[in-house]
Amino acid sequence: MKVLKFGGTSVGTAERIKHVAGLVSGRGKNIIVLSAMAGTTNTLVEISGYLFKKNVEGAKETINNLERKYFQTIAELYDDAELRNEAEREIKACFNYIRSMTKDVFTSFEEKEILAQGEIMSTLMMHLYMQGIGVNSALIPALEYMRTDKNGEPDMQHIRQRLNNLLDKHPEADLYITQGYICRNAYGEIDNLQRGGSDYSASLIGAAVGAEEIEIWTDIDGMHNNDPRYVEGTRPVERLSFDEAAELAYFGAKILHPMCVQPAKYANIPVRLLNTMDPSAKGTLIGNDSDCGAIKAVAAKDNIIAIRVRSGRMLLAYGFLKNVFETFEAHRTPIDMVATSEVGVSLTIDSDKNLDSILEDLRKFGTVTVDRDMVIICVVGSFDWKNCGFEANVISALKDIPVRMICYGGSDCNISFLVRKEDKVKALNLLSEKLFD
Ligand code: ASP
Ligand code: MG
Repeated sequence: MKVLKFGGTSVGTAERIKHVAGLVSGRGKNIIVLSAMAGTTNTLVEISGYLFKKNVEGAKETINNLERKYFQTIAELYDDAELRNEAEREIKACFNYIRSMTKDVFTSFEEKEILAQGEIMSTLMMHLYMQGIGVNSALIPALEYMRTDKNGEPDMQHIRQRLNNLLDKHPEADLYITQGYICRNAYGEIDNLQRGGSDYSASLIGAAVGAEEIEIWTDIDGMHNNDPRYVEGTRPVERLSFDEAAELAYFGAKILHPMCVQPAKYANIPVRLLNTMDPSAKGTLIGNDSDCGAIKAVAAKDNIIAIRVRSGRMLLAYGFLKNVFETFEAHRTPIDMVATSEVGVSLTIDSDKNLDSILEDLRKFGTVTVDRDMVIICVVGSFDWKNCGFEANVISALKDIPVRMICYGGSDCNISFLVRKEDKVKALNLLSEKLFD
């Protein structure tokens, strides 16, 4: 059994839905995980925004517009009048449910219920379409098995047990369809796995059923060796290790949700990234074994803030780094890069949410300076320290660019640089020229 996940653009129009139905039918009893149709989750966020601000008219108008789009899609999707009527009835019910949220107090609980409707609607429409083309699909509601615990972490035991029970109830099914992104939390309330979380759902589902492979279908043919928005002639990387893929996903390659890698890695299930628009393209295979001895890809993460704390008394002092790190922990702010010297430490964060209070606390331990608008450039590949010359090669590519920080040796698979925002595109291009041309 495989898990096949399709993102929002892959199911973004009636035509795309038909195309995906064609791709998945006849391939065996797999689990199909869908995102909401492209744009829907953003619109649902917008509707919630109106309701938080008590702008009921704005919310209603946006709901009506979105509903019209869905009815248009339904009109294009089903030839059979009976299926069309059923789709209209069910989608109407979803919109009426969203409308019912405009009548009373609106909190983040209601918001999550609204956000869940996107995936509920896309899977419903796909399921009904399957019936029309003679595929006996079974709709498996994520809200009945996907759950997080009190720490917001997936409750793997619950997911495994409930999901397998639900699948067992449909021995006659040709394939299964389920929602990405949505779940219940430890209190049974409707919740989600954060924006872009459908990839994570697919990985959790794959781990829960012991899938043979997890396929993530998007609109690009795999993970590219550099950012195609800024660099010409990038190529898909054929193979990546889980660790390499995790670094790339975290440091900017938008194609995969960073959390997605973990469950698949621990269950040792290969993840294949494929292109809905070009299904025969090879894509990228992510697995526990990867080809060694190569530099694979470059990615960039924007809006980074670098903080340097200089201690007058760090020489032979202990406790300084502990104090600095504890400050970030106390403000629940994750650190990306770290570089130390005998007199100070530089680190980076990607959010200024708690910056003022962090800086105030850090000033107790030394002189603090801040550089904003920085970018992390992350190069991924075989950076085992015993491989000679790999890091030198990468560093020499950036010889004409001012580099604020370098991190190497934290893992076997990456080296990262911190540069100014205005040097990002040049840095990405220089690295591609040096490493991949
Ligand atoms: N529909 C959700 C989002 O737009 C989840 C996903 O697509 O992965 O964030
Ligand atoms: Mg996505």
